[in-house]
Amino acid sequence: MQTIVQKIDRAQIDAAAMEEAGRILRSGGLVAFPTETVYGLGGDALDESAARRIYAAKGRPSDNPLIVHIADMEHLAEIVTEIPEAARKLAEAFWPGPLTMIFQKSDRVPYGTTGGLDTVAVRMPSDPIALELIRRGGGYVAAPSANTSGRPSPTTAQHVYEDLQGRIPMILDGGAVQIGLESTIVDLTEEVPTVLRPGYISMEMLQAVLGEVRMDRGLIADDSNVRPKAPGMKYRHYAPQADLKIVEGPQEQVISYINEKTAGEKQVGIICTEETKARYPRGDVKCVGSRKDELSIANHLFAILREFDADGVEEIYSESFEAPGLGQAIMNRLLKAAGHQVITL
Ligand code: AMP
Ligand code: MG
Repeated sequence: MQTIVQKIDRAQIDAAAMEEAGRILRSGGLVAFPTETVYGLGGDALDESAARRIYAAKGRPSDNPLIVHIADMEHLAEIVTEIPEAARKLAEAFWPGPLTMIFQKSDRVPYGTTGGLDTVAVRMPSDPIALELIRRGGGYVAAPSANTSGRPSPTTAQHVYEDLQGRIPMILDGGAVQIGLESTIVDLTEEVPTVLRPGYISMEMLQAVLGEVRMDRGLIADDSNVRPKAPGMKYRHYAPQADLKIVEGPQEQVISYINEKTAGEKQVGIICTEETKARYPRGDVKCVGSRKDELSIANHLFAILREFDADGVEEIYSESFEAPGLGQAIMNRLLKAAGHQVITL
């Protein structure tokens, strides 16, 4: 299969190209498209065969459910049995935007889309290209991140092409995404709304709207018997080919520890920040962004993990980032990429 990469200008969306993409979705095919979080791999959420194609193209385990993307609030009631008051408040505050909510699913949503679960994850993205595609594609687009399962999520159309060329008919190229980390997931089927995956919409932002909000125990527990409730969170993810370790502690100690690691023969990668990059004289030094601007770190993290694969380093050491706010989501992705290997000084 030939993969067409179609450039789309957000300021002047090409109606004919979007109609072609919509037609592919309506006939059960797949289209990769930009959202404000990461690039998604879209298929018709109400068509079980489209879901199967998504799992096959990504090599994703089929027990890992897909997020259903909608463009209009009226469409929500069609795919869920009930819209809790908390969901209305969150939608009012954060939709369209980088927030996914879990509901009880209605019969219209096939189990193929939800990985066999009775619940469904729903998001209304804010990217105008995504909204246009969803509307032209029939209103309900199931879309996981458009990467090969296990690789870092794609933040450019080029990343999608690297992973999925020849496996899907079309990629809509809207340039680099705005945020760079996947959506926050909140489960509203629990008594207390529970964060299953941290993202740009932070715990503090959710609490400001809802009051009490919890973090899924599976995300914070050291005990590996406590499983995360979002099935996808249990998989090793974002993992670069080289062994990645996070180094935390007082800044000067972190810098000297990492510099010792680059003294030998090994090809060593370093993930650092604007504030510290001049302090690493050796190694494959990559600056992920500035600590004063956490969004810059979110923007570059996945791209940098991919670059290390291309460079072929043998080991990678990363500085550590702090919660709260976006730091929590950044650390969550970095810990997964590192298989939770942390060196505390
Ligand atoms: P991705 O599509 O790559 O952003 O991953 C979607 C994430 O949402 C995965 O971690 C899934 O396990 C999670 N997810 C999707 N649907 C549900 C659901 N019904 N309940 C819990 N987690 C879900
Ligand atoms: Mg993903």
